[in-house]
Amino acid sequence: MSSTQKVNLLGLTRSKMEQFFADIGEKPFRAKQVMQWVHQFGVSDFDQMTNISKALRAKLADIAEVRVPEVTYQDISTDGTRKWVMKMDGGSSIETVLIPDGNRGTLCISSQIGCALDCSFCSTGKQGFNRNLSAAEIVGQIWVAVKSFEDIDPDKDRPVTNVVMMGMGEPLLNFDNVIDSMNLMMDDFAYSISKRRLTLSTAGVVPAIKKLTGLTDASIAISLHAPNDELRNELVPVNKKYPISELLEATKGYLDSLSDKRKATIEYTLIEGVNDSQELAHQLVNLLDGFPCKVNLIPFNPFPQSDYKKPSGNAVHRFQDILIAGGFVTTIRSTRGDDIDAACGQLVGNVADRTRRSAKYIPLKEE
Ligand code: SAH
Repeated sequence: MSSTQKVNLLGLTRSKMEQFFADIGEKPFRAKQVMQWVHQFGVSDFDQMTNISKALRAKLADIAEVRVPEVTYQDISTDGTRKWVMKMDGGSSIETVLIPDGNRGTLCISSQIGCALDCSFCSTGKQGFNRNLSAAEIVGQIWVAVKSFEDIDPDKDRPVTNVVMMGMGEPLLNFDNVIDSMNLMMDDFAYSISKRRLTLSTAGVVPAIKKLTGLTDASIAISLHAPNDELRNELVPVNKKYPISELLEATKGYLDSLSDKRKATIEYTLIEGVNDSQELAHQLVNLLDGFPCKVNLIPFNPFPQSDYKKPSGNAVHRFQDILIAGGFVTTIRSTRGDDIDAACGQLVGNVADRTRRSAKYIPLKEE
């Protein structure tokens, strides 16, 4: 059997892994063993899975593989943020970022190569859409991030405690693979990421939000960016298909379906002179009145193909003050890793055009 036909075990959820072992006449508990080797010990070679018989290891090597993404570039920012460029089958690259903050490590994962939604302020959108990532390619990103911390004791310091599906792509347009990979990230035999610390972020694909119930119980973030349809149509073109009222209603439906009381995160990228006025802040307060959410303001991160500008610190704080006075918990996302082009909206996955700045280089293992 050629390697392209082998099953990549990296992307199989627990139930799919159990099915895989059932299909080859093995007991279901093998699924948990292999998952622990792969996801918790970072092992990709069957020969190192020592609680599995030699015969079964040989059989696995024949029909399956643990194929992890190829890291072509890795960088660490002066603030500790790590970024990886990973080459995917077909030659395109995606980017993954890990932002450490005290005991917390937030991993920002990509779900597609490029993006079809073309939001006016997002550099990924300017690249166009190439293809969906497989579940293995999505989970492979957390595998690589965890593996980069070789000396860490998994019981004490977990390098990745939070995951946000906020890298390249629109996760809800790669529905099945995103659901499978999120379920795998939350699995106790894999990464044990808590449902409250795993956030799916969407620009507002309403039919897919309605489909989430029962398939996942991860947290949800909505990339709103404007308090009215006229402005949002301009910034987030998918709004023309699924306007704000439908988006909020579908999101509320998902939150209501969860067994615990949870709020959505409303993401609002502030762009100078476009959506950062006090009047719009008041509109936002009115729009979100009664909607269970907290608000995260993201000052626009400039990139070469865009004329938009970062708002002044004053404008950001004025906007925040109005939301807080309106009763909303409102945070400002600090820009992290911008010296390695790792900030929101700067993930383009294009190694050739990258200009390196002040960051320190971590040599790749094989160098
Ligand atoms: N497609 C998904 C996830 C990817 S974007 C979504 O839209 O939610 C993750 C967040 O970064 C989104 O809120 C997005 O709007 C924001 N973002 C994109 N480009 C940005 C930029 N240049 N500056 C600041 N935030 C940006």
